[in-house]
Amino acid sequence: MKYTFPLTSLTLITLLLSACGTSSNSHPRQDFLDRAPVQGDLTPLIQKFHASEYLTSCDQQHLPQMLEIANELDQRSGELEAYSKGLPPSKDYRRVLVGPIVVRERLHPRAPKTEWLSDHTSWQEIIEDYQNAKKDSDPRKWYAVNAEVRNILTDDQYRLNSGEEYAISHGDEPLLKGIHDLTTLCLANINCTHPDFTLDALTWFNKQRYYSALFTKIKQANIHSESEPLLKELRNAIQIDLSEFQIRKNTSITRKGPELTLPLYPGIFSDVTEALANYSEPIWSSRNLKLKITWASRPDDSIFSLILGEHAGGRSYVSFKKQEVHLESDVRAKSIAHEIGHTLGFKDHYYTTWNGTECKYTTEYREDDLMSDAEFASVTDDEWQTLDSTYP
Ligand SMILES: [Zn+2]
Repeated sequence: MKYTFPLTSLTLITLLLSACGTSSNSHPRQDFLDRAPVQGDLTPLIQKFHASEYLTSCDQQHLPQMLEIANELDQRSGELEAYSKGLPPSKDYRRVLVGPIVVRERLHPRAPKTEWLSDHTSWQEIIEDYQNAKKDSDPRKWYAVNAEVRNILTDDQYRLNSGEEYAISHGDEPLLKGIHDLTTLCLANINCTHPDFTLDALTWFNKQRYYSALFTKIKQANIHSESEPLLKELRNAIQIDLSEFQIRKNTSITRKGPELTLPLYPGIFSDVTEALANYSEPIWSSRNLKLKITWASRPDDSIFSLILGEHAGGRSYVSFKKQEVHLESDVRAKSIAHEIGHTLGFKDHYYTTWNGTECKYTTEYREDDLMSDAEFASVTDDEWQTLDSTYP
């Protein structure tokens, strides 16, 4: 979902040392890309972490075991691939062949919980699971460890190679709007050098290397013209973070009455467009709005294309930048509707934060929001309203 570009060391030195008014023109977040899940060999990826300027004591502590696990999984990649092609029956899902992929349909759905929930992931836990898998040759355990490792490395990769800070929680939108508005007011006032941010805002800045360095520079300014470019940079960065909570309009979508028409290029899925539409259109249809997918006969830069993922235990995702919907085998039926939700412009409504003291990630999510967790969820009232106003 998110993608970042690295703060080069030169930019970082500018950030930390420069007290003059030059803007760094860089922000450790870039909007609107799904985090592409980790694919292929794991060992080279972890070797690259050694040189990261964002390494924390947590990472340093776990690196030797991370390398050992990566090496073991890389050696087992053929075996994992074979295992993923013949997964054993599950009591919770029916596995249906849909063209080049298997789709997992839930057999006994239950009502979703209606509050924010959270999950934690950490290398400590994965190391335990790995040691457990080593004790016997149960392929299920290795398959699970492989999925866990690829999942955590997806976040590690963006945090350590790109400097993404993993600091936005589900309730942070009002805080970010407050920072944005105070910055705008200060920019308009010639007598203002820095806004009087709330304690919550300062605490949030201090959790992040980029913002704490930028705010330190802003406070050093003596006159408005000195802080002005830095305040503009701050406002720009906050706008990017705020976009986490906003829809991005897909300009290829048209609306006629209640019908929303979404053009997609099916690519290798051209024989199973009806099945894919059946996994998505009913979920994205209410009394007032109905999704209709139209299937293009050739790819086009202005529309999303479906792409086949080919990685054992891989996760489906959407790249906004490339306009691609990657569908992996063993995808859950509702995840297809979730990915279609991205093509409608919705971002993920789950929020992952990194705790560098406890060495773990926390992901906040809701079971009742399709864009948050695709297991039991449906489209929320908020999402219907957003769709209606985005595509009038
Ligand atoms: Zn998603």
